[in-house]
Amino acid sequence: MNIDKYIDSIKACRFCFMCRHLSAIGNVTFTEADTPRVRASMLYGVTMYPERLTDEDLAKTMYRSDLSGCCRRNCVNHYDEVGLTLAYRADLVAAGAVPANIKAIADELKKSPEWKVSGSGKVAYVADALSIESGAADAFLKLAGKVQVLKGGTCGKGLWVLGFRKEAKALASKFVKVLEGTKATTIVVSHTGIYDLLVNTLAEMGLKLKAKVMHTSEYLAGIKTSKKLGNVYYLESDFLRNYNDDYAFPKTLLRANGARLKAFSTNDEESYSCGEGALVLDRIEPELVEKLAKYIEARAEHPEKDVIAVASPYTKIQLAKYTSLNVKTIEELLAEAL
Ligand code: SF4
Repeated sequence: MNIDKYIDSIKACRFCFMCRHLSAIGNVTFTEADTPRVRASMLYGVTMYPERLTDEDLAKTMYRSDLSGCCRRNCVNHYDEVGLTLAYRADLVAAGAVPANIKAIADELKKSPEWKVSGSGKVAYVADALSIESGAADAFLKLAGKVQVLKGGTCGKGLWVLGFRKEAKALASKFVKVLEGTKATTIVVSHTGIYDLLVNTLAEMGLKLKAKVMHTSEYLAGIKTSKKLGNVYYLESDFLRNYNDDYAFPKTLLRANGARLKAFSTNDEESYSCGEGALVLDRIEPELVEKLAKYIEARAEHPEKDVIAVASPYTKIQLAKYTSLNVKTIEELLAEAL
């Protein structure tokens, strides 16, 4: 089983309480099951009694993890509780025992339309559906000028996170072919999950991309807005901070354009992303995403007035949907101040 590769994490986490306050789901459900410790305890049981792999309650718990990576990032030994959860999901898919609601989401994700490419140049921007819906794509294109633009397809990361590894690789492979076909030397993305796919997950899949990959906040590093951004609360991205070594470009870019970054809430180790790392949590348990959004809203000093910036289009969409927060993607903030 894939979970056997994480036996060190299972054994370490099952007796450890140290990061339970960083489980975003645990903080809104108040259940011990939604912490790395109890997930590891349950999976230790699976290693001894493999028939427990397909237990219905276990599957439901493992599919509502926020996968923020906060616990792994702040663990003194960085035990990979995220990798363990993803390994369990892959094992459940391999056993043909995935819950019906997860299978239905995966079936939708498998129906990926073809990517369409327009424009010309050595830079290609991925305008995926969430980047368009969040406003990040339009704002980026206003800032970036002439680039190639890819629209319409999906990248496979959602299927990967749900445990459908073979199907995820097939979609990612098609995506890489389209990217290679652009002959671009730089690929730019707003979607933090696509960034993580291109810089980390492709290697796990055994795939490669030659071009350099940048999040928009890195690509726009040289931009200067005419207006200063002023007081801004920046909510960290799970993928950029917790999966990619505290990727510094979002905060550097905001500061370079006159942002005075203010501390949000009292714990800067927490995830305030509405489950960004889980990618499709809004389709699995939307009521949980609403609770995560309300949890964030309750921690804002002046909810309707504070300017809140995010690097993740997913987070912008969820916060805009469930809260009154004045939330903008970094691209939107910059484009408005241009
Ligand atoms: S990830 Fe680290 S801190 Fe969290 S439960 Fe595991 S060992 Fe403890």
